[in-house]
Amino acid sequence: KIASREFSVGNTAIRLGDPADTVIGGRDVVVMAGPCSVEGREMMFDTARAVQQAGARLLRGGAFKPRSSPYAFQGMGEDGLKILADVRAETGMPIVTEVMDPRQVELVASYADVMQIGARNMQNFPLLSEVGKVQRPVLLKRGLSGTITELLMAAEYVLAQGNGDVMLCERGIRTYETATRNTMDVAAIPVLKRETHLPVIVDPSHAGGRAHLVTPLALAAVAAGADGLIVEVHPDPKCAKSDGEQSLEFSAFTQLMQQVQAVARAI
Ligand code: PEP
Ligand code: MN
Repeated sequence: KIASREFSVGNTAIRLGDPADTVIGGRDVVVMAGPCSVEGREMMFDTARAVQQAGARLLRGGAFKPRSSPYAFQGMGEDGLKILADVRAETGMPIVTEVMDPRQVELVASYADVMQIGARNMQNFPLLSEVGKVQRPVLLKRGLSGTITELLMAAEYVLAQGNGDVMLCERGIRTYETATRNTMDVAAIPVLKRETHLPVIVDPSHAGGRAHLVTPLALAAVAAGADGLIVEVHPDPKCAKSDGEQSLEFSAFTQLMQQVQAVARAI
């Protein structure tokens, strides 16, 4: 298997940015942050500046949103991608954004620096093969009830098409517990680091589902060996069009970054 440690001894390091000075899977814990959804130009510029100031290297924001209800906000689509590209031009931050449909891979790849495959699409094999055919890094999220082996096999679909830049993302799995949105599988981090040379990213926002849980989960992830984090941040979480309950305000994100850096230095 291409993802396995037997296939490659060294860790896969993914370089991003222009100049390409952001390295995922290297020495530093890399943080991606931004709103769940791109909601408009001003909120994206404000969020990008705030999270960059706090130390985030990549900007996240969904333009195509996989909502549980077809009546909920579905994202801004290509207009959202254009906003992301404009923010990158201004701030230099690489962009991570979701692609949901094999027919939109080319479009999303033309704007994004990292193509996110959402949890609900972890086993959308045609989509995985399609992102495998373009030379853009992929952030592959673990399915809601995906095993670690299934996550690795999903990555294999991308790798087998020739795209070697895959990051794996633990974002919590569905369990019987309801106090949290999902259950963050901390053990998945050292298991994956042992099994694969691919970078491991953790999403404490979708794992916990509540803002007060995000920092403790982020710290646990870094202590357990995560290569990076993806965190939802919004200028006004109460008014967010999606995932407001789990989104951090700018000040809370700044504090998270200080604590993350302290844990990263300590391990
Ligand atoms: C997201 O990142 O906003 C998202 C929808 O995540 P997931 O696919 O992990 O639910
Ligand atoms: Mn979200």
